[in-house]
Amino acid sequence: MTIRPAYRTISLLDQRAGAQPARLAPSRSLGTAPGFFAAPPQGFLADTLGRPLRDLRISVTDRCNFRCSYCMPKEVFDKDYAYLPQSALLSFEEITRIARQFVAHGVQKIRLTGGEPLLRKNLDVLIAQLAALRTTDGAPLDITLTTNGSLLARKAQALKDAGLQRVTVSLDGLDDAVFKKMNDVDFPVADVLEGIAAAQAVGLGPIKVNMVVKRGTNDHEIVPMARHFQGTGVVLRFIEYMDVGATNGWRMDEVVPSAQVIERLHAALPLVALEASAPGETAQRWGYANAQGHYDPQLGEVGVISSVTQAFCADCNRARLSTEGQLYLCLFASQGHDLRSVVRGPGGDADLTNAIASIWQGRSDRYSLLRASLPPEAQASGARRVEMSYIGG
Ligand code: SAM
Ligand code: SF4
Ligand code: SF4
Repeated sequence: MTIRPAYRTISLLDQRAGAQPARLAPSRSLGTAPGFFAAPPQGFLADTLGRPLRDLRISVTDRCNFRCSYCMPKEVFDKDYAYLPQSALLSFEEITRIARQFVAHGVQKIRLTGGEPLLRKNLDVLIAQLAALRTTDGAPLDITLTTNGSLLARKAQALKDAGLQRVTVSLDGLDDAVFKKMNDVDFPVADVLEGIAAAQAVGLGPIKVNMVVKRGTNDHEIVPMARHFQGTGVVLRFIEYMDVGATNGWRMDEVVPSAQVIERLHAALPLVALEASAPGETAQRWGYANAQGHYDPQLGEVGVISSVTQAFCADCNRARLSTEGQLYLCLFASQGHDLRSVVRGPGGDADLTNAIASIWQGRSDRYSLLRASLPPEAQASGARRVEMSYIGG
């Protein structure tokens, strides 16, 4: 009788196996040549393009209860899909230890994401641990979370009590048929709106709502969505459908450039351009104008995130930590850096802080800026890139 070895099938599209070991730079105290030492944590790190490290996005699960076609298409993320086993996930203690070292290096904002982060059990416990961290200036961190809103009504109060400050909720339309087609699990709009209302009621604001716009699928929902949220204190942001991952079959002709979104909105609801509220902010802000053509804060604002048509790599200060502790320096990266083995290794927090410094100092990623000049095979959907549901948005 032949005994077959138990093979684990790794899809050709599976980039999770592609992490490289985190490189530890020798510390300065070892007398290493300039340029090759790891910076001690002093609240500021710059990459090779001078970009600081300010924003850490932490994916707490690779699972989701939606199957948005632009993110986790049903045909790929089916019942046979091999999600990460529990043992591979970072524990809350490990996440907090890693986050603490990032904060020592200058991170001021942490966003929890996924997959669907509210599927991770006891997430409020992690939030409370992160909320106890302080920036190098002694200030509390800005802690926020991106969610599809399906469990928000139930969890909003506990999240707020644990120290979460704000939420961003994804919603791609107000029309049930359109939204159900996009989430592909028949989830109704009303339940997400209920989650948004609950978050507002407990003070998880200002709430942002993200709408990914796909031409021919939900672009006719742009103006109705804007009308719905105008004057409610919720900031609606339109996101260009991106070529992230390798499974969503992205095509440029399905992208509605932000300039066209603004044109369509302006024709129905006059807008005026607003200043960016923080350096490195991804969204361009537009305020609703009153009858005199001036911005009216009572009416509020919208944002556009032009990830495809207008690269914002020059200011990109974000690092992404995957559910299993791989550090990604760009949404379009095909390889991460393995921090899990560092956090689980014998070198303790000293190795962790060293690894983070040396990885960030070596960073030169700027995919969106280079996109147009890349060879077609690197631009094509299906090019080797990590999935958004794995590293979070
Ligand atoms: N499940 C949560 C949610 O949907 O809000 C958090 C994770 S999701 C990956 C984070 C954000 O990425 C969402 O706002 C989602 O709409 C956005 N996103 C996912 N795939 C995208 C794509 N191909 N283009 C643009 N945005 C995308
Ligand atoms: Fe899930 Fe969010 Fe991806 Fe939709 S965008 S499939 S809700 S992780
Ligand atoms: Fe940042 Fe990469 Fe996006 Fe550029 S393409 S803004 S470097 S995540």
